[in-house]
Amino acid sequence: MTEQSFFPQGTLVGVLTTQPLGRPLDYKAPEGGCHEGAFVEVPLGPRKVLGVVWGPGQGDFDAARVRPVSRVLDARPMRAEMRRFLTRAADYTLTPLPAMLRLATRSPGLGDPPSMRKIYRMGQGMPDRMTPARERVLAVLEEFGGLSFTLKELAEMAGTGTSVVKGLVAQGVVAEQDTPRDQPYPALDPALPGKPLTDDQARAASAIAEGMGARAYGTTLLKGVTGSGKTEVYLEAVAACLRAGRQALVLLPEIALTAEFLTRVEARFGARPAEWHSGVTMTERRRCWRMVGEGGAQLVVGARSALFLPYADLGLIVVDEEHDTSYKQEDGVLYNARDMAVLRASLNAAQVVLASATPSLESWANAEAGKYRKVELAARYGTAELPEMRAIDMRAEALPANRWISGGLQAEVAKRLEAGEQSLLFINRRGYAPITLCRACGQQVGCDHCDARMVEHRFQKRLVCHQCGESKPLPEACPSCQVEGRMAAVGPGVERLAEEAAALFPDARVAALSSDMFGSARALKAQIEAIATGQADIVIGTQLVAKGHNFPLLTLVGVIDADLGLQGSDLRAAERSFQLVRQVAGRAGRAARRGVAYLQSYQPEHPVIRAILGGDEEAFWRAEAEERRRAGVPPYGRMAGIVISSPDAQQAFDLGGRLARMDAPLRRIGAQVFGPAPAPIARIRGRHRVRLLVKADKGAALQAALLEWTAQFRLPAQLRLSIDIDPQSFY
Ligand code: ADP
Ligand code: ZN
Repeated sequence: MTEQSFFPQGTLVGVLTTQPLGRPLDYKAPEGGCHEGAFVEVPLGPRKVLGVVWGPGQGDFDAARVRPVSRVLDARPMRAEMRRFLTRAADYTLTPLPAMLRLATRSPGLGDPPSMRKIYRMGQGMPDRMTPARERVLAVLEEFGGLSFTLKELAEMAGTGTSVVKGLVAQGVVAEQDTPRDQPYPALDPALPGKPLTDDQARAASAIAEGMGARAYGTTLLKGVTGSGKTEVYLEAVAACLRAGRQALVLLPEIALTAEFLTRVEARFGARPAEWHSGVTMTERRRCWRMVGEGGAQLVVGARSALFLPYADLGLIVVDEEHDTSYKQEDGVLYNARDMAVLRASLNAAQVVLASATPSLESWANAEAGKYRKVELAARYGTAELPEMRAIDMRAEALPANRWISGGLQAEVAKRLEAGEQSLLFINRRGYAPITLCRACGQQVGCDHCDARMVEHRFQKRLVCHQCGESKPLPEACPSCQVEGRMAAVGPGVERLAEEAAALFPDARVAALSSDMFGSARALKAQIEAIATGQADIVIGTQLVAKGHNFPLLTLVGVIDADLGLQGSDLRAAERSFQLVRQVAGRAGRAARRGVAYLQSYQPEHPVIRAILGGDEEAFWRAEAEERRRAGVPPYGRMAGIVISSPDAQQAFDLGGRLARMDAPLRRIGAQVFGPAPAPIARIRGRHRVRLLVKADKGAALQAALLEWTAQFRLPAQLRLSIDIDPQSFY
């Protein structure tokens, strides 16, 4: 553990608060002093705010006016390693440090004294008078002497009221004791045997374990098709980490995947790990945050924000499905959890495992360049084959209007129904139809607040904006020409596809799987489990199904529109299509049966579709890498997006224009500015958005130049400017 300085009472300390201020502020250490890293409450104007003792004070305030720290919170001080991580992450993402600190202080009740609860154990002596109820209480304590009970639990087990227990406490026969509410998590046992690994898997596991043993930083790209045993392999890395007495973190891209994973952890290590994501109760979050800091949690399974927990000694971070777009936080602090995992590990002599069937081009390139170790699992465990893949040329299909399932695909689904197997029809569009238009005037229904089109959700009987979340009832009359009864849904969404499948196969059980059709993570999980156990014949799904669920009865995947994503201004469009289609195809035939995947496409000769069909991944990545290198875009160049937003479009454009003209700080590092242009989504929640894109060479000091460039302007109050380093989505 790193030594942290101690500041005696009255010494000047610099406290970084979670308030938007430029730098740590000076305070006097309180009575009893405080440690570097201590969580404190300090006065700021009339308020008291949360902060962390960041280091010695600067001493540049009027000494007489420096106020003392109000109180030191009862939490373990933030480690030096964590403060370094936050600082580096803030510098990289150009996020103000206080906003970064907020990510690291997201524990409910951080300032509360550790909460206690009363537990009951066997005390001394015998009661003055024995009754049957008293006897039962003592019998329970005798029988389960090793356990501790709350008052309610003990009374319940003894089949009596709580007053009986209290009577015994008064006489000292039962002992009442205060214990902390936040208990350590049950110990995981890395010595329990894992599954016997195949040669391939064992080689991969020992390559990673080697890095673990050295107590050094290293990143491994673990690549293997779905079902090849990546999870088995990284669980071995977790075992090696636990044996070394260090903590491990496994990041999953989707809460719906946690349940299955927790079960696997329990089977492997004999107990459940700590969980950290938005579906976890406040009490558990608080317990997790505390126990991670005190070493009472060996393994955390969580969402990207679990990177900001106060680990005592983090030795391993696994990023499962590392290519998944949900690792990029798109709101508030703009960071990519995959990159931050690598940063955090490098500051802490820890190992990173990036697991994927279809790695991001960034990770692929880092492995090519020798920065990451690359470990490949060639064969799928058990069955050695990928699903067969075929294209259906939609130009030859002549489907009637408002039909999306081709004759060929329909025949294949019918065969699976006959055989009692499952089919999956995949469409990456939520809702019923992407466009609602008026057949009288041709007007499309758009969002009142954004530039996005409204998407019909028949399930909810509403039109929804997927950009800002605004919704309104389905209109009877056209909002534009007022003609009634002519509104029409155009194009397919997952709900509409489900309707078509139900009509084509009236006897089949059709289940749709789309994140917004379920009120809660639990309902969604139940649906996934029902599908896995065979309670559906045809599954209709969005990208949610591409995320590693195991459906053993599934032998057919039909990709309804494989061309979605091939066009467009997103530099990652080709990569996304490739990953998505490969992954969905990987859903078919995970168990013993061989799967087949059909891709419906209007351009089956497109290089991306051909690479997917040919199964030649390396060819795809090499071609895509070459394209990006030629264009000088990530990962072979650097990019940043600047979005200026304002209620007044002209004002946003004016500032954008001035930024573009005053680009000397960027020119000095050889960077180019594009724009201003309306952002691809030009209006969100009533604010007009203007975007500039900055492109620079790989080695350029981009962050410093961006800061100098944007600092030339004072922003009027209603204007907002946000910088997105390595933008992932291009709106
Ligand atoms: P991936 O993470 O690559 O999708 P998994 O680790 O989930 O693959 O493995 C797929 C299935 O095969 C799982 O049910 C897993 O338990 C099983 N499996 C993988 N490797 C082995 C092994 N060596 N012995 C027994 N079962 C295995
Ligand atoms: Zn909207």
